[in-house]
Amino acid sequence: MQIITKSTAQAHGLARYYEGVPCAKGHDSGRYTKSDVCVGCATGRSLRYATRKKMEKLWVEVGVPADMPPEMKDALVIWLRFQATIPFIKQAIWGTDPMLTMSMGPPVPEPAFDNQVKSTP
Ligand SMILES: [Zn+2]
Repeated sequence: MQIITKSTAQAHGLARYYEGVPCAKGHDSGRYTKSDVCVGCATGRSLRYATRKKMEKLWVEVGVPADMPPEMKDALVIWLRFQATIPFIKQAIWGTDPMLTMSMGPPVPEPAFDNQVKSTP
């Protein structure tokens, strides 16, 4: 990345500058001119916030108990969503869900084709 000092960025009206110094967390991604906030840190914070909001939406969707600790709620949502994918995984591996086949009753026998040459005594 090209070195652009903060004063140069301000003079040119640029939103970001890069002085070649990584942030305290090691991001080598430049900083916002207005706030001096590291772009990598801001992106990470934004993603964590979006993930948190998405999980909270799923808590409601799944109907997790309200008195459950947040980590347990997340774990329950992840577990339930994983379980929901199991039939699709089985479908991908075996072409069908063995449990689903069993629940539908015994397999219907293939129609018998009598293609053997009968020898009449
Ligand atoms: Zn950073």
